[in-house]
Amino acid sequence: LRGVHKRYGVGGGLMARRRTLTAVAGVSLRVERGEVLGLVGESGCGKSTLARMILGLEAPSEGEVLLDGRPIASLGRLERGRLVQPVFQDPYSSLNPRRDVASIIGLPLIVHGVGTVAERRDAVAEMLGLVGLAPRHAEAFPSQLSGGQRQRVAIARALVLRPTLVVCDEPTSALDVSVQAQILNLLLDLKERLGLSYLFISHNLAVVHMLAGRVAAMYLGRVVEEGEAGRVLGAPQHPYTAALLASALTPDPSLGLPAMRLGTVFPNPLALPSGCAFHPRCPAVFERCAREAPALLPCPGGGRAACHLTGQDQHQAA
Ligand code: SF4
Ligand code: MG
Repeated sequence: LRGVHKRYGVGGGLMARRRTLTAVAGVSLRVERGEVLGLVGESGCGKSTLARMILGLEAPSEGEVLLDGRPIASLGRLERGRLVQPVFQDPYSSLNPRRDVASIIGLPLIVHGVGTVAERRDAVAEMLGLVGLAPRHAEAFPSQLSGGQRQRVAIARALVLRPTLVVCDEPTSALDVSVQAQILNLLLDLKERLGLSYLFISHNLAVVHMLAGRVAAMYLGRVVEEGEAGRVLGAPQHPYTAALLASALTPDPSLGLPAMRLGTVFPNPLALPSGCAFHPRCPAVFERCAREAPALLPCPGGGRAACHLTGQDQHQAA
């Protein structure tokens, strides 16, 4: 991703002024071949919008999405499908209830006219085995499967064209905890066996820690910190990442950042705060923060962070 922005017009009408919602505000990121990049942040931070642009489901308002070095807009559907595929959160709504498992997994091959009937049947059988489903599941319908089995079908469908990158958007969030671990282990196993790369989006930092080699944290449409997973999750440089980690240790992480620790609620994305967008909630805020937006700059200990208190910025200022 090179300088990617995504803006939506919202509202408007007779009396109301049309306003702009900025979902992604200038993100540059790379996923290397064979790598798992974890993308973390509260809901509404732009993670899923970013995913949809990488999948070609939405076009950026500004900037470029490249797959294998080529602009995504220049790729045909089959080329794109062989480079990137999605696994979404809810395996039930993403599977057609009227199709059996074999036809769900084989559909991308039919849509793109890949292989003969016999070859497609073999490919589906191979995918079933790879994702740990039995041959008899080929004739089952989604309603006859458990949540974990349905997610295995969704993974098989994503992999049948043998993409190099898989965008996983909260792939285990809808599953029982016991099943989550099985699906995460399956994803790790498939990554090794098929040489896949993942962009792994999750609000669950423990899950990200288990899979990702590198982590990027997003806040209000921007990457605020990025680096090696052990460093970002072990010794975060950005106050937002630190707060995200602290909130993950509270009994109910779904409640988001603890208000007592950080002050105000999640800001309105229609009216982004001036300077550093995190400043109204930041426990380390100082005078410069509301005036000046920090750039994402290298940190002395590795990785990059966008905060006036870290990175090269501080050294330049000093
Ligand atoms: Fe906090 Fe200021 Fe750093 Fe933003 S720039 S994260 S407000 S200390
Ligand atoms: Mg989302």
